[in-house]
Amino acid sequence: MTTEAGKTIGVDVGGTKIAAGVVDASGRVLSKVRYPSAGPPETLLANVLRAVREARRGHEDVLGLCLSVPGTVVTERSAVAFSPNLPTIEGIPLKERLEGEIGLPMTVENDANAAAWGEFRFGVGRSARHLVFVTLGTGIGAGIIVDGRLLRGAQGAGGELGHTTVQAEGGPRCACGNAGCFEALASGTAIGRFGGEAAAERPESALGRLAARRRIRGEDVTELAGTGDPVARSVLARAGRWLGVGLANAINTFNPEVVAVGGGAAASGEMLLAPAREEIARRAISPARDLARVMAATLGPDSGLIGAAALAIDPASGEPFLGGTEPVAPSCVSMASNIST
Ligand SMILES: [Zn+2]
Repeated sequence: MTTEAGKTIGVDVGGTKIAAGVVDASGRVLSKVRYPSAGPPETLLANVLRAVREARRGHEDVLGLCLSVPGTVVTERSAVAFSPNLPTIEGIPLKERLEGEIGLPMTVENDANAAAWGEFRFGVGRSARHLVFVTLGTGIGAGIIVDGRLLRGAQGAGGELGHTTVQAEGGPRCACGNAGCFEALASGTAIGRFGGEAAAERPESALGRLAARRRIRGEDVTELAGTGDPVARSVLARAGRWLGVGLANAINTFNPEVVAVGGGAAASGEMLLAPAREEIARRAISPARDLARVMAATLGPDSGLIGAAALAIDPASGEPFLGGTEPVAPSCVSMASNIST
């Protein structure tokens, strides 16, 4: 591989912060800085530039960078079309505005796609060629790798599993305007809402007592469930079953070797994943059902930054990856042969 010595920069732009870091070809983070992402577009761009400049200090030999952004990326324009969590970024021609100033080849990628790529190259999916990644937070972000390639679709808007419908009738409202979306039933936000419902039914429970003081959040449920609280555990089991419904659809569609679950809500671990697996066993079809291993993601909050850095250059040629087409996957034939089919 020509990229063994190549260092690149990953920039993870989120709803509240910008994290930029230099990452080496084995996925090691060599430097990292943070800036807020709040403020008008000009402040956002200035903070990205500052973050890149600081992260790059002492690493002048970086080959390129990739900006991971929340929302739907239109590949052709390297711009974000729709971003519910960071509306200021919408419509900015990011590559045009930043690439010349930074002086490095630059690509732009959806944040969940970047995190999926990080897990595929260096995390829980590194021995797989087919990976479904979901990140459970305010919503559900998703990234799909098919035969070593990131699935983008015709415009860059593909792979949005969070907005596939899993409850067509009577489902809860979703941030996208539809109802019954996967993310309205299995995200951290959904866990909080289920927690609020359980608290109303069981006012004497720990959740009920907490709800008397303030609104229940997903983290509250995870924390109480961790202490063994049975009501909180039943809330996680409910969300876990919905997680399984959505993942069964993905398994039937993509036949992945690995399904990686990341994000804040993934801290619930087996309390969420075990009921999801039971639902998958009921709904996914053999042999895809038997192959897919549903596991917690392993890179944690750095997955977006690490994945973005790996999407800055084409790992097959070592040439800067300029966007617009899929990156060519690293050769992992020998690793793939370890997977029994
Ligand atoms: Zn939706």
